[in-house]
Amino acid sequence: MSDSACSCCKSVAAAARGENARLIHTFEHCIWIVGQHGFHRGYTMLVYRGQVKDLHELSRDVQRGLFEELMTATRVAAQLYQPWKMNHSSYGNVVPHIHWHIFPRYMDDPDRLAHPWIHADRFGEKNLSEEETRSIAMTLRDALAADV
Ligand SMILES: [Zn+2]
Repeated sequence: MSDSACSCCKSVAAAARGENARLIHTFEHCIWIVGQHGFHRGYTMLVYRGQVKDLHELSRDVQRGLFEELMTATRVAAQLYQPWKMNHSSYGNVVPHIHWHIFPRYMDDPDRLAHPWIHADRFGEKNLSEEETRSIAMTLRDALAADV
């Protein structure tokens, strides 16, 4: 089930067609994709592959599987980018489709004690080109393949 107006569904469908430049990896329950900006170096997203609005609607088995995928993506990004802290956010108020934002946070961010959206008005200054996106996806894909 998908919704053609939903940006998460579009990303999942493009990944399934082999046409998603942001795709790092397709897990059983989610796709892992490069974020749209590089404001937080190594920012990625985990998007559930079905059109479901809220986490509590999933079966417990799927919740567990999704959490394992979230932890795998987080661990791989943390090992690669060596941030001060990893932040997760999952709201779905704007796009009501289960997804997580995975933000590495760094010591040189003077606002690191605040939530990552505090800089949302500046994210667009660091939008990634398709070439940068593909390069980051490949780097994370290699790091995932080396993860044990
Ligand atoms: Zn959707």
